[in-house]
Amino acid sequence: MAIIIKTPEQIKTIKEGGKILAKVLAKVAKKVEPGISTYDLDKYAYDLIKEEGCIPAFLNYKPVGAPKAFPATICISVNNEIVHGIPLKTKILKEGDIVSLDLGLKYKGLFTDHAVTVPVGVISKVDQKLLDDTKKALEIGIWAAQGGATVGDIGHAIESFAGKKYGIVRELAGHGVGVKIHEDPYVPNFGKAGKGQKLIPGMIIAIEPMLNIGKASIISANDNWTIKTSDGSRSAHFEHTILITEGEAEIITKI
Ligand code: MG
Repeated sequence: MAIIIKTPEQIKTIKEGGKILAKVLAKVAKKVEPGISTYDLDKYAYDLIKEEGCIPAFLNYKPVGAPKAFPATICISVNNEIVHGIPLKTKILKEGDIVSLDLGLKYKGLFTDHAVTVPVGVISKVDQKLLDDTKKALEIGIWAAQGGATVGDIGHAIESFAGKKYGIVRELAGHGVGVKIHEDPYVPNFGKAGKGQKLIPGMIIAIEPMLNIGKASIISANDNWTIKTSDGSRSAHFEHTILITEGEAEIITKI
């Protein structure tokens, strides 16, 4: 698949969508507290998206090769779950958990993608550091994503910051986004500076580092969706949709 350079009209619409997505995800994040089920958070997100006249991008999304479509609006992944957790009525958040909320939105036919990991009540210092560092890794990746740089520069920047302290998930990556929810280029969270696809102004990509406190290796859960750390250690995930410009990238998924 070729890289899609967005037109000014598409960029304008994607920016509007990104703002709505950021607003919705912030509201959902505020709802996170001990005792709430991941199903309730999902339902809340669905209602907010509908109120905004948008379409949830992940609901019923079936990637090529996946055995079944994703059955919910948000991917909610708790503690040792990295990404793609399925919300459930029986999954109740507890004090001290960390929870990743990953949400995609379709607005006027165009997509944006955004994720945060938030604490449930009071969390340990180690977990708070994981959240802070994963957010920092995303910021560093965004800083590296300047016009004329490459996808490898993004991965290299994230790996240089986080690679010695954490297990960086290698099987999952950021991606182009906009016309489809997942487009080229593939944007890994590790790599070699100067290598890979060149970043051209007008490209829109999602950068999404996933850091594990323990080993980098992952396993798939029996639900065929949830990805977990192989060693049971906790994991965090932050993601922004960004616009490549001549200079510093512009964050699209912000209020
Ligand atoms: Mg994504």
